[in-house]
Amino acid sequence: MAATVQQPSVDELYEGVRSGSRALIGRAITLIESRNAAHQDKAQQLLAKLLPHAGGAQRVGISGVPGVGKSTFIECLGSWLIEDQRKRVAVLAVDPSSGRTGGSILGDKTRMEKLSANQDAFIRPSPSAGVLGGVARATRETMIVLEAAGFDVVLVETVGTGQSETMVSEMVDFFLVLMLPGAGDELQGIKKGILELADMVAVNKADIFEKKLKQAVREYKSALHIMTDASPSWHPPVVTVSGLTGDGVAELWERIEKHARIMTESGERQVRRDEQRVSWLKSQIADRLLADFYGDASVSQSFTPILEDVRGGKKPVSAAVSELLKLYHAKGYKGL
Ligand code: GDP
Repeated sequence: MAATVQQPSVDELYEGVRSGSRALIGRAITLIESRNAAHQDKAQQLLAKLLPHAGGAQRVGISGVPGVGKSTFIECLGSWLIEDQRKRVAVLAVDPSSGRTGGSILGDKTRMEKLSANQDAFIRPSPSAGVLGGVARATRETMIVLEAAGFDVVLVETVGTGQSETMVSEMVDFFLVLMLPGAGDELQGIKKGILELADMVAVNKADIFEKKLKQAVREYKSALHIMTDASPSWHPPVVTVSGLTGDGVAELWERIEKHARIMTESGERQVRRDEQRVSWLKSQIADRLLADFYGDASVSQSFTPILEDVRGGKKPVSAAVSELLKLYHAKGYKGL
């Protein structure tokens, strides 16, 4: 039973993470993912100690719709980085559907078998923290643990739908979007949103889409051409790749390294990371205030009747908000 297991102390976790102990890295991440208040306290102490040792990894987000070949690609890229480039590689998944619906879009166990068995790789499935904000927090903090443990590359995989893309793009240095040729016009809306976040588009499964490939590259290039670049120093390129055969993987990584060099030299990489920390701060404030507001006893007692009055048009919305905030503030600060 969990209760009888001896919990390592903050110092033991710190030493374990710094020395690269897989077991203790795992325990540290579990602590971070826990929503228990005592665990969170301990997690924050640990993170404060680890933070000075973090920041050294190349952080790359990888996105694409289910079936585009993300796990095959990551298995291939990760193995190549370890074997050919002598890197240590961590893979995190961000899948807000995980743990809520019973199944997750990214799936977990059977993926990336070769990489999971590699001593220089560390793969962690998505935290099942329910709400997107919780998953974001756990993922960012896990990244600190992995960097302090000495991983050179952190790949953050996410599903190709909705808000999780934006969230991941806000925690990485480079956002890679995998696409397929001729995926259909009905996807245009989603594609456009994702393309705006892309630092590079890779058209995947180049081994089977030989004929359609050139046209797809042209299409994505022209779609990117009409968008405003996020950086004055970088226009997102479109490349072709096959996660199955490995064709194009080395060239793709070379582009990511080139981006890192350019961004580091121009100072934009640091600015991007600084801004990411500021927006993280703001979103955490919003998340915690909301949770505290809705969790407040006097607010929740009065919430339903006030809500019904608003629904029935009996009370103006702004009056209802003032009333609820007054109740909320009446308690004073008890600590969040
Ligand atoms: P994910 O859902 O994005 O993680 O996609 P998977 O990596 O699970 O791949 C979905 C399917 O496409 C699987 O059957 C893979 O074997 C296949 N696949 C993935 N990458 C490639 C590729 O580069 N070429 C070919 N021909 N098939 C691929």
